[in-house]
Amino acid sequence: MTAVQLGMPSIATGPPVGPAGRPDTPALLDSYGRVATDLRVSVTDRCNLRCTYCMPAEGLDWLAKPELLDTGELVRLIEIAVHKLGITELRFTGGEPLLRKDLEEVLGAAAALRPRPLISLTTNGVGLVRRAEGLAAAGVDRVNVSLDTVRRDRYAELTRRDRLPDVLAGLRAAKAAGLDPVKVNAVLMRGVNEDEAVPLLEFCLDGGYELRFIEQMPLDPQHAWDRAAMVSGPEILAALRTRFTLDPHTAERGAAPAERWLVNGGPATVGVIASVSQPFCAACDRTRLTADGQIRSCLFGTHETDLRGALRAGATDEELAERWRAAMWAKPAGHGINEVGFAQPVRPMSAIGG
Ligand code: SAM
Ligand code: SF4
Repeated sequence: MTAVQLGMPSIATGPPVGPAGRPDTPALLDSYGRVATDLRVSVTDRCNLRCTYCMPAEGLDWLAKPELLDTGELVRLIEIAVHKLGITELRFTGGEPLLRKDLEEVLGAAAALRPRPLISLTTNGVGLVRRAEGLAAAGVDRVNVSLDTVRRDRYAELTRRDRLPDVLAGLRAAKAAGLDPVKVNAVLMRGVNEDEAVPLLEFCLDGGYELRFIEQMPLDPQHAWDRAAMVSGPEILAALRTRFTLDPHTAERGAAPAERWLVNGGPATVGVIASVSQPFCAACDRTRLTADGQIRSCLFGTHETDLRGALRAGATDEELAERWRAAMWAKPAGHGINEVGFAQPVRPMSAIGG
């Protein structure tokens, strides 16, 4: 195993940690007994927004084109995941996934797999008005649109682009295209948009969108995350309760990270993903593929397993599947954010795939 110094801490690359003791099963089992069935596929690290908590104004050092998996490589790895590794759910993300021109082609190929995986997309929504129908036709079942504020001036400040009207049109287009549910993801930050829990929920109730708040995590490239600036799940619920009644949603939560609440008796719901204050690592069922073909067993992991190199060197499908299984067997127990000595991953959220 080689360790490439990209700053502190390092990303360990090369073959995965030995799969000693791994039972002979095709599934993506880890040594704590969890089985990954949900694959997050990052299709690009680039973005057309510059959300202050995610990217600096000048952007990041984007991956060069040859480093990215091309259409065929991406489709091959997704097919291995579904056919050989038991993946039942695919979420496409980035960077901004709509920047990838071959996205519909990749989605169409994924939707043609049997058993057909559930397909969803996480997007900033800027390009959605033109793409929603095509995405639905290609096989997207659900879409998550990120929106942290409903105030145009604040949106322009927070994303460094004045694109709120495009996002609102994109949300409407997603609904009109039959994508269901259309979810809205929001991150609240102290001193930035912490006063928007209620306005965001009012907006989503009016539009028929399902809102989920996500606690801000230490995944920013500036490494400026500050626990005190994070608006926690309990604080969000307290703010919502000043205007709405919230009752626990009785549906089985399973591996779903969002704790859901019925709003004013339902049927509308709101979710809170308290990854930091109430980690759900013990129920995690995710595996991740980065846009440059690396497997990550955990968003916060410090180890990546290179599939692109093996794939380009002529590895068979079964050899790639074995590498993937070994990578997942070594999945850490948890993200460790709340532990002394926690080290933030080198790659930011936008490069891993949020
Ligand atoms: N560009 C697309 C978007 O914004 O939806 C997809 C990628 S983005 C990295 C995915 C999600 O991650 C967004 O909802 C964004 O708000 C969220 N995100 C980014 N940085 C985050 C952080 N440090 N903590 C929590 N969520 C974060
Ligand atoms: Fe782009 Fe999404 Fe990051 Fe915003 S959160 S800068 S839209 S990748």
